[in-house]
Amino acid sequence: MENCVFCKIAAGEIPSAKVYEDGEMLVFRDIEPKAKIHLLCVPKEHFATLAELTPARTALVGRMLETIASHKDEWGLKDGYRLVVNQGENAGQTVHHLHIHVLGGETLGW
Ligand code: AMP
Ligand code: ZN
Repeated sequence: MENCVFCKIAAGEIPSAKVYEDGEMLVFRDIEPKAKIHLLCVPKEHFATLAELTPARTALVGRMLETIASHKDEWGLKDGYRLVVNQGENAGQTVHHLHIHVLGGETLGW
């Protein structure tokens, strides 16, 4: 989608510190980390929120969770991590392209 920063990252038009990529998702470091390790797991397909899930997208989100779980040690998250998915204005969602925040690398406060 035009003017979407995560679509531009997925298309390689904006640089990112990628830690994982396959045909349907991308994982890269958040530019303003809120924890020692702060990654964003993003589907390559543009959709804004979980309200737009279809059966195929639901399966993709499942694969995103599975990918995070299977790479946790490699990404420095073996002692645990937190997933956050901001949805809409009250949650402070600033990028309207679905993304899972992956936070860890230290003991997290609430
Ligand atoms: P949210 O507030 O849930 O929409 O989170 C959006 C996140 O994207 C924020 O944590 C930003 O720091 C992050 N972000 C925005 N632009 C970039 C970028 N170009 N590269 C990496 N992370 C970004
Ligand atoms: Zn997008």
